[in-house]
Amino acid sequence: MKVKVEKDLCIGCGACQAICPDVFEIDDGLSSVVVETIDDELKDDVIEAVESCPTEAIKKED
Ligand code: SF4
Repeated sequence: MKVKVEKDLCIGCGACQAICPDVFEIDDGLSSVVVETIDDELKDDVIEAVESCPTEAIKKED
């Protein structure tokens, strides 16, 4: 699984980083994805982050 953040939708709320700091990092007020491919052990946290994002800015690809 891969994941990316649509920068024009992100409002920098920090929810994704709070849920999954191994994958998401707030940089200059916007979220960035810091790993290319999501390990199985992080998938559940990433899915929770996707579902928690208030602007649906996080897109995942299987
Ligand atoms: S949860 Fe969504 S809006 Fe909030 S920082 Fe992460 S990507 Fe941006």
